[in-house]
Amino acid sequence: MTQEIGGFAALGIHSAVLAAISAVGYEEPSPIQAQAIPVILGGHDMIGQAQTGTGKTAAFALPILSKIDPAKREPQALILAPTRELALQVATAFETYSKQLPGVGVVAVYGGAPMGPQLKAIRQGAQVIVATPGRLVDHLSRNSELLSTIRFLVLDEADEMLKLGFMDDLEVIFEAMPESRQSVLFSATLPHSIRAIAEKHLREPQHIKIAAKTQTVARIEQAHLMVHADQKIQAVLRLLEVEDFDALIAFVRTKQATLDLAAALEAKGYKAAALNGDIAQNQRERVIESLKDGRLDIVVATDVAARGLDVARITHVFNVDMPYDPESYVHRIGRTGRAGREGRALLLVTPRERRMLQVIERVTNQKVAEARLPNAQQVLDARIKKLTNSLAPLVADAETTHGELLDKLVADIGCSPRALAAALLRKATNGQALTLAEVEKEQPLVPTSGPRERSERSDRPERSGDRERRAPIPLAEGRARCRTPLGARDGIAARNLLGAILNEGGLAREAIGRIQVRDSFSLVELPEDGLDRLLGKLKDTRVGGKQLKLRRYRED
Ligand code: AMP
Repeated sequence: MTQEIGGFAALGIHSAVLAAISAVGYEEPSPIQAQAIPVILGGHDMIGQAQTGTGKTAAFALPILSKIDPAKREPQALILAPTRELALQVATAFETYSKQLPGVGVVAVYGGAPMGPQLKAIRQGAQVIVATPGRLVDHLSRNSELLSTIRFLVLDEADEMLKLGFMDDLEVIFEAMPESRQSVLFSATLPHSIRAIAEKHLREPQHIKIAAKTQTVARIEQAHLMVHADQKIQAVLRLLEVEDFDALIAFVRTKQATLDLAAALEAKGYKAAALNGDIAQNQRERVIESLKDGRLDIVVATDVAARGLDVARITHVFNVDMPYDPESYVHRIGRTGRAGREGRALLLVTPRERRMLQVIERVTNQKVAEARLPNAQQVLDARIKKLTNSLAPLVADAETTHGELLDKLVADIGCSPRALAAALLRKATNGQALTLAEVEKEQPLVPTSGPRERSERSDRPERSGDRERRAPIPLAEGRARCRTPLGARDGIAARNLLGAILNEGGLAREAIGRIQVRDSFSLVELPEDGLDRLLGKLKDTRVGGKQLKLRRYRED
């Protein structure tokens, strides 16, 4: 387990934090993490020039958590973020990375929510406060000692904070903290005002910047698509319908994401496999061989696992998760366009990652045009075209070989040749949607549980206490258990069910809880909220050719 997070272990992170990173599936530090973590662990002040998408949150969260003293139940780290949304995201990240650190609590402090619960969480001993400046100043006006025990300060997206006019609030906050603290400032840009703050409030800060060299990528047609994070799998499935690819490599960030996407693709009938750091060398070689000889068409990989992968058949690269920096983007898309062929590279961009797209365009000196997700009509046209192409070569001698049988069947059944041909088509296409209305129905691209909702859920006060208390309860809050009559004896594995529900239900991976496959049935935990609608959507879903028939399950 620790082998694939070796890159992190070498940086000197606390073992409990390493365990949490391993659980989330990070395989190696991103460039900003590799540079910033040793500096922060070394106790230095730091200025990091990095934007969202580079892994900057973990770059400060991991070393800070490694240095928190869980025995001291008082505020030790303060992270300032410009917006409520970012504060919630950062708090969630701290929560995730501190899962294996008992006694460490995180509280998000932001405006628009009552102050009482925030104060209570601080009083109960949360060591990490993630706050927006305005609301923190409100708290300070009631309790001026609030920040007197702070040892670590992070200004996240400092340039944004200044743009939002938080300069005066920042000064009040600086005054309320001990001077002996360690301070870290992250900013995408370093205008004069930021340098002035650093000059005044940081002590001999080390500068960290991910150098961006200009790179050129010829012969590869590039495009990007804007999508929400929880719609990525749906977006990939839709794109695959219309992209004319030979072999394809899809890049994601975590092990879990390789498994989820590969499962969703397999459930749709693609010859796909995951490639991540957990996969043994010989198995990895088998995957690459299979991609070369066509037993596989799609490999879903992390950057580390795809190292050295050179397969001439690859016509497409899908950047499903954003790369950390332009260099790795160039590296990724260089997997296609091999041996003088044309390649195509698509990049999915979530709204938060727009900036990274601009950086990529600057460094590669090329515009990455925006493409649109294919609509239902385009999906339908592509399906019909594929069907036509697959049937056309069969027509030539079919009448000679099966003409007589057709006449007999038509006579025996008493139907028209058209009716029989239609029935055969339905059978051959395995219930695939082939009318516009059907295709429209099966393409759910509506966010169900976005990152925002997730962060808010985890922002309840008294979280660390909750975590302990909740542990023995079998069914998580807000989840319902559902049952399908499909089980191991139908050849069903958990990943098939997961794939089908992700595909057809349009759910985020996180929304799906435990899946238990028994011999003659299976149980799946799904969100209670919107369950009836979800079950409605899954009404006609088939897994392994059989009806899923997922129903609410009551144990009594
Ligand atoms: P950030 O730049 O902090 O907004 O992070 C962007 C995304 O990258 C987040 O979804 C993180 O969970 C993810 N991430 C951060 N570090 C790593 C890593 N070393 N390996 C894989 N994913 C990461």
